[in-house]
Amino acid sequence: MNFCPRCGTALTLRMDGGRHRPMCPAEGCGYTYYGDASIGTGAVVMRGDEILLIERRAPNRVWWQIPGGFVEVDEPIHTAIEREVMEETGIEARALDVVGFRHAAGVPDRPIANIYVVFRLEAIGGAPRPDNEESFSVEFVHRDQIAQREGLSSMSLWAIETALGAPHQAGMSIEEPREGLQRPGQTIFRLPPL
Ligand SMILES: [Zn+2]
Repeated sequence: MNFCPRCGTALTLRMDGGRHRPMCPAEGCGYTYYGDASIGTGAVVMRGDEILLIERRAPNRVWWQIPGGFVEVDEPIHTAIEREVMEETGIEARALDVVGFRHAAGVPDRPIANIYVVFRLEAIGGAPRPDNEESFSVEFVHRDQIAQREGLSSMSLWAIETALGAPHQAGMSIEEPREGLQRPGQTIFRLPPL
């Protein structure tokens, strides 16, 4: 990045937090470039003893995974996961709690850092249908049949086993809005109270 995205001034390298970082020298701006990151989210959607799986296709590969996708920059993450489930599967689902997350630091062939947050959701309506862009089959699969599913991604299997192995609402869920706690756009996730 060479120019400030806020004011257009050419960035200069300055020492900040132990590293040289591109910073905006314009008076009163102070923009600092900390690198690129993306946020993804995945959904373990449960309907009784069944879990929602989708078939994905790439030119040389077909595989199964849980639904999910990237979180838009101006979108709350729990809204994003419910949206992705609807888009990819036709199923209306409600986010319950966070099962876990994967952090990926940037590496040479994938320089963008990423966090992938896995939610547990309950299906509340709709009928399974693929979008034929990102999903090519959509199925509710009984929990006893999940491990045998050919081509299921290892991350999705991890997410499902973790979700099935944890008590109801044991994960983090959304903190109630409280005066002065959440700024606009912020959602706080918290452990369940004792
Ligand atoms: Zn600037």
